[in-house]
Amino acid sequence: MSESASSSRTHSSVWSHFTLLEEEGKAQCNYFGTKYKRSGGSTTTLHTHLKNKHSRSFWEFLVKWIVCDDQPFVVVECEYLRKLFRLLNPNAKSLSADTIHNDIMKSFKDEKNKIQEILQEQLTFLIKDELES
Ligand SMILES: [Zn+2]
Repeated sequence: MSESASSSRTHSSVWSHFTLLEEEGKAQCNYFGTKYKRSGGSTTTLHTHLKNKHSRSFWEFLVKWIVCDDQPFVVVECEYLRKLFRLLNPNAKSLSADTIHNDIMKSFKDEKNKIQEILQEQLTFLIKDELES
């Protein structure tokens, strides 16, 4: 009885991403090392962590790889890359080149605006300094 109870405690699919730290009564993420207190048999917190933290990181790393390695946007439409993603996460949705292109262009514009604002500010300071001296 207690044996089946303890095995069902780590039966959920989230446990392929977490290690149960019996003595601490915590679950630790295998990737980020974040620890979560185990409250009963619930895996809600762990699911939330995967949904938020891992999804965000997946997207961030994918975008960085495409940009830093000069990959074409259509690389995300490669049949084998899609199979690889689905192997790691059976719920993974297929990405399109347009989605990744739009996201990268939006990030690029945001960063460009930030740099423009910083430069504008610096330039204003320099001119003001020049006029006052
Ligand atoms: Zn994690």
